[in-house]
Amino acid sequence: MALWYYGTVALNNHTDDTIAAISTPIGRGGIGIVRLSGRDALKIADRIFVSPKKKKISTSPSHRIVYGHITEPSTGEIIDEVMVSIMKAPRTYTREDIVEINCHGGALPLRRVLELVLRNGARAAGPGEFTQRAFLNGRLDLAQAEAVLDVINAMTVQGQKAAVEQLRGGLSVKIAAAREELIELTAFLEAYIDFPEEDIGSLTAKEMTQRALKISDSLRELIESSGYGVILREGLRVAIAGRPNVGKSSLLNALLEHDRAIVTEIPGTTRDVIEEYLNIGGLPIRIMDTAGIREVEDLAEKEGVRRSLRAMEEADMVLLILDGSSELHETDIELIGKAKTENTIFVINKSDLEQKIDIEGAGFKPAPSVMVSAKKGTGLDSLKEKIVETALHGKTCGNSAVVTNTRHVHSLRKALASIESFITEASGKTPPEFLAVELRDALDALGDILGATTPEDILERIFTKFCIGK
Ligand code: GDP
Repeated sequence: MALWYYGTVALNNHTDDTIAAISTPIGRGGIGIVRLSGRDALKIADRIFVSPKKKKISTSPSHRIVYGHITEPSTGEIIDEVMVSIMKAPRTYTREDIVEINCHGGALPLRRVLELVLRNGARAAGPGEFTQRAFLNGRLDLAQAEAVLDVINAMTVQGQKAAVEQLRGGLSVKIAAAREELIELTAFLEAYIDFPEEDIGSLTAKEMTQRALKISDSLRELIESSGYGVILREGLRVAIAGRPNVGKSSLLNALLEHDRAIVTEIPGTTRDVIEEYLNIGGLPIRIMDTAGIREVEDLAEKEGVRRSLRAMEEADMVLLILDGSSELHETDIELIGKAKTENTIFVINKSDLEQKIDIEGAGFKPAPSVMVSAKKGTGLDSLKEKIVETALHGKTCGNSAVVTNTRHVHSLRKALASIESFITEASGKTPPEFLAVELRDALDALGDILGATTPEDILERIFTKFCIGK
């Protein structure tokens, strides 16, 4: 990977000074880890570590764990009893010397050990700085570095599997292969521009187009996988809409009771709201504006409907709840009229009561609908199947690399657009210099995914999403 390509911006700031952070969550736990990485990691650890057998961290073989005490060097006070993992460069996460001090997992031992490390020559690490070093030192490309965060934040097993595959380089390999082919194509074209009259075994326009078509096919396949992939990573925003008293809260509670699988903070948002997630068929489903929906019970009908309409606009999918035991109200009709058929499921609730609803009679086309009773808990499995079907309609979830990150989708689309322009222009009279520009643009877009050409502000945005210590 050509790190130096963007190195003028990022690498100038890159040093190998020693960084340190608490890498485990703050709170109480069996073990907590203070991690150091950099030039002086071993030396700093030696200053504060005392082993009963007088072992030195700097002279210990790599990839060993040693037992001892973290001790205040000036007073000899023992801060904690620890195990220290020693990992010497280059076979480490950051490719630098790494020391991990395994302390007791309470806030105080961890903070005191960190403070001691900082007083003895380390600097407090910024968010994601260890992973940033792994990236800058060529241990991970950018797509892999982003996958680290996705593995941590994954909400369902399927999402976690996709992230691990990306971390292993599954996606990177495919992007790199497409890049290689583009580089070859660009080289042919540029040789032709430089030496047009020489026979350099250059490809004919037709052969070039064929190669470009092959590349565009592979990019298209990756883009297609993102329909499923992005849902895995970001969750599907589902709105439960409907007029008051149709059973929105009851249905939500019934679903949560069934499937309360995920409770998480949404990464990257400033609101510190714990949101409700459901795991439905492996898809993380985020119920939108749950608090709002609950409040609606006490709100005037007009306000309730206004909120439903707004949620319907913003959601990826809408569960429009109707009360099967009553005829359609004017409000129901208004909501049905505003629903987009491709992402709405009509949920006819209160199936345990005598049914009076008649959607088609009211002049609406049959839409996907499911009958449930939130009260009795019936029909929920069919509803969940319908949710998965509607979420995935036509979206593939093959077992090879899945694109889960919207940043990658955006770059893939950019690359594909340039290659498509190349293909169209190559069959016309466009001068080869212009054709080469299209190929270069496509190369840059793919390079952005791997971090070979990514501008520094984007890099910074990516790494600041990480927690400190990762
Ligand atoms: P919301 O205003 O849309 O959130 O509706 P609620 O969930 O508060 O329900 C309104 C009323 O309908 C409550 O009295 C619920 O007990 C009742 N209800 C909800 N679902 C069902 C159902 O499936 N069957 C029956 N019989 N009653 C239900």
